[in-house]
Amino acid sequence: MPGSRFLRRSEVHENSPVANVSELNLILLGPPGAGKGTQAERLREDFDLDYIATGEMLRKAVADGTELGRKAKEYMDKGELVPDEVIIGVILEEVESQGADGFLLDGFPRTVDQATALDEALARLGRSLTAVLLIEADDDEVVRRLSGRRVCVKNEHVYNVHTDPPKHDEVCDQDGSRLVQRDDDREETVRKRLEVYQRQTSPLVTFYEERDLLKRFDGSRSPTEVHDHIRATIATLRLEDEL
Ligand SMILES: [Zn+2]
Repeated sequence: MPGSRFLRRSEVHENSPVANVSELNLILLGPPGAGKGTQAERLREDFDLDYIATGEMLRKAVADGTELGRKAKEYMDKGELVPDEVIIGVILEEVESQGADGFLLDGFPRTVDQATALDEALARLGRSLTAVLLIEADDDEVVRRLSGRRVCVKNEHVYNVHTDPPKHDEVCDQDGSRLVQRDDDREETVRKRLEVYQRQTSPLVTFYEERDLLKRFDGSRSPTEVHDHIRATIATLRLEDEL
């Protein structure tokens, strides 16, 4: 409901000299298995942010048949990567229509070029990033978590042999069907995904560190501890912003 967001925003800022003091424009970074999804879900609820998962967003733009969605589809149909400017276009449309109070961007940027292009695009809207949240987890921990996942063959119920085991080994509690490990969750595959992530993301981490935007969180802690730490950090950022 874009209307209600704008209403509430103008109420909040009625007496404020600066229009965007509490705007939270965030990027979420972290390897697979670090718990980004869980944190994203909680942050959306805490701060009423517009959550922009670019993969999902692109699929939605394509399904809705928007102009940019149609453009993206042309590339997808040819099996090509959707160019950065198309993805940024989709992000900006979303930020303008839903993200007045702020947004949480997940899945983009992945490269320094994309980060630079995003900065420029946001500047055209008179916006800038508030912070980049990096949830870190070491490779062995990620491998342990992801390779522990088991999925039932009948209804894709998800278990984890370390953190959420079924009552009986290799059997689904809910429908009695067999539990298997997905190819994506095999140790070799997880290690490869992590290599790709590190290679792509380390320059991006340096880029945001140099701009003093990067905030690091220890993803080996429990989801609640990580969440508390992120909340405290965001509260501090808002205070600094209002001074
Ligand atoms: Zn099941």
